[in-house]
Amino acid sequence: MINEFEYFAPKTLQEALQLLDQYRDLYKMIAGGQSLLIMMRQGLIKPEYLIDIKGLSELDYIKFDDRKGLRIGALTTHRTIEKSPVIKKSFGVIAEMENRLASIQTRNWGSIGGNLCHGDPAGDLAPVLIALNATLTVTSMKGERNMLVEDFFLDYFETALEHGELLREIQVPPIPPNTGAAYTKFNVIETEMATVGVAVSITLASKEGNCKDIRIVLGNAAPRPMRTKQAEELMRGKKITDHLLQEAGEIASTEADPISDIHASAEYRQDLLKVLVKRVGQEAFSRAKKS
Ligand SMILES: Cc1cc2nc3c(=O)[nH]c(=O)nc-3n(C[C@H](O)[C@H](O)[C@H](O)COP(=O)(O)OP(=O)(O)OC[C@H]3O[C@@H](n4cnc5c(N)ncnc54)[C@H](O)[C@@H]3O)c2cc1C
Repeated sequence: MINEFEYFAPKTLQEALQLLDQYRDLYKMIAGGQSLLIMMRQGLIKPEYLIDIKGLSELDYIKFDDRKGLRIGALTTHRTIEKSPVIKKSFGVIAEMENRLASIQTRNWGSIGGNLCHGDPAGDLAPVLIALNATLTVTSMKGERNMLVEDFFLDYFETALEHGELLREIQVPPIPPNTGAAYTKFNVIETEMATVGVAVSITLASKEGNCKDIRIVLGNAAPRPMRTKQAEELMRGKKITDHLLQEAGEIASTEADPISDIHASAEYRQDLLKVLVKRVGQEAFSRAKKS
C-alpha cells in the first residue's frame, strides 16, 4: 500500500533543485515511475514528498557531435534512445540493448536516468555505457559533479548520488577507430531483467591487428555492474582468438561474485558468464574488424 505524500511537479530544473534542497532526505524523485512505484507499492520506500521530474523537458534530448560524442538528457526515454537515428548509426550497441530492455510499454515511459539511478545491478544500460567509457553529470544547488558511469554504482541499489542531487546528463565519447562493441543478456522471459548480462568493447591496433584495448563488463554478476580487469588484462596486446576469449570467459566468471536467487544459482550465473563473455567477445571482435 502506497503511503500518503505531498506531490510537487516542478516546471524547470532550477525549481526542481530548489525542492530537492528544501526537503533533503524526506523526498523521492519520480521520473517514469517504472521502478519507483513498484518499491512504493511494496512499502520499501515511503517518501514524505514526491518530486515529479517527468515534465522537465529541458532534460529530454539526444545530441551528437563528431568530436565530443553523444549527450543524452537524463529524462530521455528508452524508446526514444532505441529509435534515435544517430544512436542507431554511431552507437548501434546502445540501440540494440534498448530494443531488448523490458517491454515497449516500459520503454515508452521509463527514462535512462531512472534506470541508472535505481542502481539495479541487473540493469541493461550500465554494462553497455561502461564498455563505451561513458561519463555522467549530476547537479544540485551546490553545483555539478562529473564522474565515470563505472564509478556511479556503489552497491545493490546504491549509487553515488547524494541528497539534493539529480542526474542531469549521460555522455558517451566518440567510438575510437577499429572498435567494435556488443552486448547480450540471458533472460528466461524476453521482456525481463538479465539473469546475467555481458558487454564487450574491443579496439584493435589496426584492422587485422592485436587487441589494443578491451572492456568486459558484467551485469547482475556482483553487487554492482563490474569490469573484469583480470580478463581484460589477459586480452590486451594479444592476437584475439576463440581460445583466448574462452580463457577470458573463464577468468571473468571467477572474478564475478553473483548471488543465488529465485532466477538462478550463483554457479549457474558463473557458467553463463563463461559462455557469454566468449560469445559477446567474438561479436565485438568481428565488428571491430569491419568498423
Ligand atoms: C516490467 C518491467 C520490466 C523491466 N525490465 C527491464 C530490463 O529488462 N532491463 C532494464 O535495464 N530495466 C528493466 N526495467 C526497469 C526499467 O528500465 C526502469 O524501471 C526504468 O528505466 C526506470 O526509469 P523511470 O524513469 O521509470 O524511473 P523511476 O522509476 O521514476 O525512478 C527510479 C529511481 O531513480 C530515481 N531517479 C529517476 N530519475 C532521476 C534523475 N534524473 N536523477 C536522480 N534520480 C532519479 C528515482 O528517485 C528512483 O529512485 C523493467 C521495469 C519493469 C516495470
